[in-house]
Amino acid sequence: MATIMIVEDEQAISLLLKYNLEKAGYETISIAHGNRVVAAVEKYLPSLILLDWMLPEMSGLELCKIIRNNPDLKNIPIIMLTAKSQEEDKVVGLSAGADDYVTKPFSIPELLARIKTNLRRVSTTSQLVKKEYTFQDIRLDTIEKKVFRGDNYIRLGPTEFRILKLLIANPRHVFSREDLLKEVWGNSVYVEMRTIDVHIRRLRKALNEFGPDYIRTIRATGYSIDDHEADDNCNPE
Ligand code: CA
Repeated sequence: MATIMIVEDEQAISLLLKYNLEKAGYETISIAHGNRVVAAVEKYLPSLILLDWMLPEMSGLELCKIIRNNPDLKNIPIIMLTAKSQEEDKVVGLSAGADDYVTKPFSIPELLARIKTNLRRVSTTSQLVKKEYTFQDIRLDTIEKKVFRGDNYIRLGPTEFRILKLLIANPRHVFSREDLLKEVWGNSVYVEMRTIDVHIRRLRKALNEFGPDYIRTIRATGYSIDDHEADDNCNPE
């Protein structure tokens, strides 16, 4: 069942949406304050977000940009809800990363149709949010944000977690340092290349306490997760 997050400060509209979405078979989460949205999205990983443009504390537009710059959240479809009906506002909303745009007052059947279309697009074009990834005895839970090796809980920092998530979701694919920068840190921050190596070292140390080293360093290329011995594998540890 898909979960729709309703971000709307006008209670009457929020309740109207909740009622109709639940009647249509969706689970809903309602948020009224802009500054609580990002934490709630990270916690619940909704299938789609209905995002009001005008919110107290933080605008829908700002939120849209933040969500789009977060590698863990960027694939979640966002439909902007707004009283603004001018064409230029629509362009601004879409360029901030919204997938679709519905003008208030909206018709419920039309909104439901848009939701359906956006959910379908995501399920066919990308793996949105998978609950769990495994590689050999390593298990990564994306909802609880925890990693286990066999029965052992592996304590990882947020960056190491994101690196492992990327590697384990794409086993044996070699990621260059540039790929890792883009996928793990996003394009908006400046990170030195050797910072990546530091985080990889930490990840390796934490994982290898309970089993063989599956993180491969491919000389002059990058990193992967792999259980086959490679000729050019050089493990700096
Ligand atoms: Ca509003």
